[in-house]
Amino acid sequence: MACLIAGFWLVTRLTRRTVQLDSGYHIVMGTYARIVAVAEESQTAVRSIDAGLKQLTRIDCVMSDYKPDSQLSKVNRDAYKRPVKVSRELFEVFARSTEFSKQTDGAFDITVGPLVDLWRQAGEANQMPTEQQIVDAEARVGYTKLLLDASENSVRFAVEGMRLDLGGIAKGYAIDKAVEAMKKSGATGGMVDVGGDIRCFGLPKNRKHWLVGLQDPNELGPEDPNQRVLWLGAGAIEAEQTLMRLKLNDAAVATSGDYQRFAVIDGRKFSHIINTQTPAAESELPSVTIIAPTAVEADALATAVTVLGAEKGLTLIEQCQGVEAILISSRTDSKPIATSGASTYISR
Ligand code: AMP
Ligand code: MG
Repeated sequence: MACLIAGFWLVTRLTRRTVQLDSGYHIVMGTYARIVAVAEESQTAVRSIDAGLKQLTRIDCVMSDYKPDSQLSKVNRDAYKRPVKVSRELFEVFARSTEFSKQTDGAFDITVGPLVDLWRQAGEANQMPTEQQIVDAEARVGYTKLLLDASENSVRFAVEGMRLDLGGIAKGYAIDKAVEAMKKSGATGGMVDVGGDIRCFGLPKNRKHWLVGLQDPNELGPEDPNQRVLWLGAGAIEAEQTLMRLKLNDAAVATSGDYQRFAVIDGRKFSHIINTQTPAAESELPSVTIIAPTAVEADALATAVTVLGAEKGLTLIEQCQGVEAILISSRTDSKPIATSGASTYISR
């Protein structure tokens, strides 16, 4: 009898058709987002795409510093005057960010806001900031000046004029939340892509891995789409357009770099990713890709390694369990350098 039931179960499993649905591109978090869901029924796939997209939009509303009514904007306005109570998840992002700051010796630092503003304005005016402006901004930056109270879920600034910027971590956090929601809605597999930061789980239809293509930074200009890593679904892009293909199962990948967002001042190129420990914002690495179990780790560490540079960055990532890095360290030569375990993800 048990054998008969097992046989029936197997036949049902084998004959059941898997559905794979693609949301197409949506504009969320100031970039393009796309979700693919795999499920046993199309209704489930639709439901899990909706659930994933809802999470992305919701988190954008909490963590955007462009939206004046977001929780993050409220923190930036009031946290010097008084402690600001925030939601558990925003507090969690602040706490994780502080852990990443400690882990990366301050390379990753969400208090970078005043320096981001300074360099953005300098780029717009095509004029280098003065020494004094840099010193003033630096005095308002530093993760130890962000005071977190876990018992109250509240946050306070130690110095007036601080500004938190979650641009280096919010996408990753949102992707992880979207994946969680998709699984809860019944998807057996899926892929969430927000501006080229990607996490996948389960299996795509009729394939053993999710294949993503890593773009060659030296082949891309600022006018190219805001995608540095692309899901290679149904032959969406040809192999020759990518530097390499990564095969992923239950993993996330994020790329940071200066080749799409930067400021040019007096002909010098300055990255939007800022080293808070040195006054100049000129960056060394055109492209840093991190593969990690979760998107929040991949996102934050990609930003951090861009600041740390190739040598320190690779040393750091070699020490992180389950995390790999692929770097392009030259603006003319696209030959990648990678951590020792990265080759297991590279499909060609
Ligand atoms: P990403 O594309 O994930 O590397 O994030 C880059 C964004 O993170 C920038 O546009 C800034 O908003 C923010 N950012 C810049 N420098 C840093 C830094 N050192 N640590 C954390 N976030 C940063
Ligand atoms: Mg990042």
